[in-house]
Amino acid sequence: MSARPLYDYPPYWAECYGRAPLLPMSRGEMDELGWDSCDIILVTGDAYVDHPSFGMAIVGRLLEAHGFRVGIIAQPDWQDTTAFSALGAPNLFFGITAGNMDSMINRYTADRKIRTDDAYSPDDIGGKRPDRSSIVYAHRCREAFSTAPIVMGGIEASLRRIAHYDYWQDKVRRSILADAKADLLVYGNGERAIVEIAHRLAGGETIDTVRDIRGTAFLIDDLPSDWIVIDSSKIDKPGRIEEPVNPYSVPEQESGNTNSLSTATEPSQPCQPDVAKPATNEIQVRFMSRDERLSIRKEQRHRTVLRLPSYDMVKNDKALYAHANRVLHLETNPGNARALVQNQGGRKLWLNPPPVPLSTEEMDYVFDQPFARVPHSAYGKAKIPAYEMIRFSVNIMRGCFGGCTFCSITEHEGRVIQNRSETSIIKEIETIRDTVPGFTGVISDLGGPTANMYRIACKSREIEANCRLPSCVYPDICSNLNTDHSSLIKLYRRARELPGIKKVLIASGLRYDLAVESPEYVEELVSHHVGGYLKIAPEHTERGPLDKMMKPGIGAYDQFKALFEKFSKKAGKQQYLIPYFIAAHPGTTDQDMLQLALWLKRNGFRADQVQNFYPSPMATATAMYYTGKNPLQRIRRKDDDVPVAKSGTQRKLHKAFLRYHDPQNWPLLREALRDMGRADLIGNSKDQLIPTYQPLPDKRKSSQPRKRQHPSKGKILTQHTGLPPRKST
Ligand code: SF4
Repeated sequence: MSARPLYDYPPYWAECYGRAPLLPMSRGEMDELGWDSCDIILVTGDAYVDHPSFGMAIVGRLLEAHGFRVGIIAQPDWQDTTAFSALGAPNLFFGITAGNMDSMINRYTADRKIRTDDAYSPDDIGGKRPDRSSIVYAHRCREAFSTAPIVMGGIEASLRRIAHYDYWQDKVRRSILADAKADLLVYGNGERAIVEIAHRLAGGETIDTVRDIRGTAFLIDDLPSDWIVIDSSKIDKPGRIEEPVNPYSVPEQESGNTNSLSTATEPSQPCQPDVAKPATNEIQVRFMSRDERLSIRKEQRHRTVLRLPSYDMVKNDKALYAHANRVLHLETNPGNARALVQNQGGRKLWLNPPPVPLSTEEMDYVFDQPFARVPHSAYGKAKIPAYEMIRFSVNIMRGCFGGCTFCSITEHEGRVIQNRSETSIIKEIETIRDTVPGFTGVISDLGGPTANMYRIACKSREIEANCRLPSCVYPDICSNLNTDHSSLIKLYRRARELPGIKKVLIASGLRYDLAVESPEYVEELVSHHVGGYLKIAPEHTERGPLDKMMKPGIGAYDQFKALFEKFSKKAGKQQYLIPYFIAAHPGTTDQDMLQLALWLKRNGFRADQVQNFYPSPMATATAMYYTGKNPLQRIRRKDDDVPVAKSGTQRKLHKAFLRYHDPQNWPLLREALRDMGRADLIGNSKDQLIPTYQPLPDKRKSSQPRKRQHPSKGKILTQHTGLPPRKST
């Protein structure tokens, strides 16, 4: 698995214009830079913040490093084409993204209520982007400049790349590419693809000929003739997912239709003797060496595309939807993933295999770009909460091998951890110290999708490339995983010893089952990097939901807690764990929520903010939510359905169990406990969940706006978005 290094391209001629202090958002700024036009225009649903935590800044600065003139259209008014024409037509293409989040998750709560806030907008004001922004932006760009190529990317496009369940419409939608009518979709981390696309278009290729870049998807009319097409149900060998075959129908081959492209069987196994067609009774047999066999098999695999059930089929058949979701997730390891194809009405959606992960040198190249590390000056003094949250934090790696089914990081960033070098990270800390306004000496986070996966990987690149498992840490930590935390410990030590750095905090979520493999790491973390509270995410206490989440049992939490308390005591510090839990995750029964509530009460936790499971596009847990099937195993119609809390009443009840201490929830909980035959838990002793009495509502309290609360002992959080707490939760 190799790829052209990201920095190994001759620069585009426009490099002579030099680097821009901020990428331009207006004609006036372009004039100041001496540009008559932009080569690439990025349209984004987020405010433009020139910081490596924001997608448009990463992509923009990277393309700029390759010599291209990049303009930004951020949060345009989408009612007409005026804002989309502001910078003129791009010489090469429009790059469209909804922003760092799916626009529907950004705009609505888990209970489908519209939000008034938006952490990615100036002053946290919502309403600056449309529903399914990528589609709307693509249409407006097309209307403004009909011949300009349109490339979609970012998390919304990435996770809606095939036919997908849309929670907000409660239906299966086709690929976002088909709805947006864009030319190309980039999925996953897009650096490799976007740089290659830019150079190829600059070199005179047309967008419809760019068909071989990993991590891209496009629509075609006909399948290429030199590929082997395999029906996905033959790969996953599911139980019967199609209707029983009519025994009197004539099979395709027998009826004479033997088009090799539509074959539904595996190609002949090259490990068998190669038998030539006998012209006579003589049979010629040629034996192949192991290397020959492997090389033929590899070559065949590279020319193999898996045909997923079509959009129409998955829309009408939940078992097929779950099967398609399962196959998509099986084909996500860049080391062995095959291309996928799915019919979308009249046309075929083709997905090339996922991008090759970035090397450390390439990660450094991306993060070492000259980011201004501030929002664009057009926003004046307005505060952008997502920026405020990360302005003093440093991203040290990408990817996650946890594979939690409700989370999309593994699907988007991949399972292979992509690490920056220690030198590059230290340089960024020094840059923050020396240049970012308001820095007081505290680095607020040194992490990534997970706090403690830095330089942790499979012990063998070869095994990793061949692995088909969805997680390296579930159901147990894989024996092939090298869990050595020494690089991270070394990095922490070096960072906190830098002059001018008073404290380095770790705010990213900790994979605590992994952390307990290295007590030395836990001691380092607890002694130096916890600001009084450490967030961790057991997500539940009961095996049923935990298995559907692919999370470890609560025993791992207890193990970590013991180490946390031991080392906190040793360091002479009073520190607390803040656990996260999810209510109403697929696989959760009312009984599971009751057990969780009892556990919370026993352990003295009171949930401050709670959130129900949010079915985000393409997540495995979302497929469970929609279909009631479990894509973590082979899909069979006859299998028992996964319990799913879908109705508003049951979701409300699950949430109420998490806030068992809130008197407003007591009437609902009393009724539920009686229905569950657990009226014994209603009473005023400490072993009972809720009391018999009901206090009068405090009108004064409820009429005053709630202040944003900070975590304290015994508080738990259940919002797992990595964003500052929302006002509306
Ligand atoms: S073999 Fe184990 S450690 Fe290696 S990639 Fe697979 S699951 Fe992860």
